[in-house]
Amino acid sequence: MNCTYHIDSSVLLVCTAPHQCQFQRRLCVECQYEHGENFKNHTVPTKIFQQKVLKKLKESLLNETSQITTQRLNFKQMLALTQSKLKQIWEELENSIKLIYDQLEREENCFKNFNNVNPLELSNTELEKLVQIITGKPLDDWNDQKNSILKRLEMTKNYWNQETEAFCGKLNKEMKEMLELIKKDNSPQHNFQNFKKGRFVLGLNLIQNL
Ligand SMILES: [Zn+2]
Ligand SMILES: [Zn+2]
Repeated sequence: MNCTYHIDSSVLLVCTAPHQCQFQRRLCVECQYEHGENFKNHTVPTKIFQQKVLKKLKESLLNETSQITTQRLNFKQMLALTQSKLKQIWEELENSIKLIYDQLEREENCFKNFNNVNPLELSNTELEKLVQIITGKPLDDWNDQKNSILKRLEMTKNYWNQETEAFCGKLNKEMKEMLELIKKDNSPQHNFQNFKKGRFVLGLNLIQNL
């Protein structure tokens, strides 16, 4: 690459001085002379500059990458575990609900099945039951028992609904806060945009920190 200011000379050096460089940080030997003695220590041959950048990136970023990978993996495993736990509870709840309502329906049907039967055609045991129903309070007892179970199930339904709403609300809030991390100006993503826009500038900043 030839020098913008001295067309016959090649750019050989990079200025790393902490200033607004009048040579746009790309210097040929003539630029270096004009740049002055004060900044001589800050002009680095291009090849050495590249080596320094590589060294710095290797030192600082390679570890970070493995940390990102490890943490991402841990996060993924945690999510998979949570998902299977929730799925298990979900299935257990579904089965329990089915079991309870099936049982309730079966018991209620025992009474309903006496509907429209000819008492004289019943077995002795069944006729005895029917007489009990007419004269005693098995139906009242059943209704009390049924209502108390239904009431308890209604409470469980409301509890489950409330807890799920609260749980989802908390997770949504946490997720929004987490996403804020990459929206802010000093976010890794923002820096990465800068990196893409001006690799040269980032390289200089890295070198200055050496
Ligand atoms: Zn300079
Ligand atoms: Zn020059």
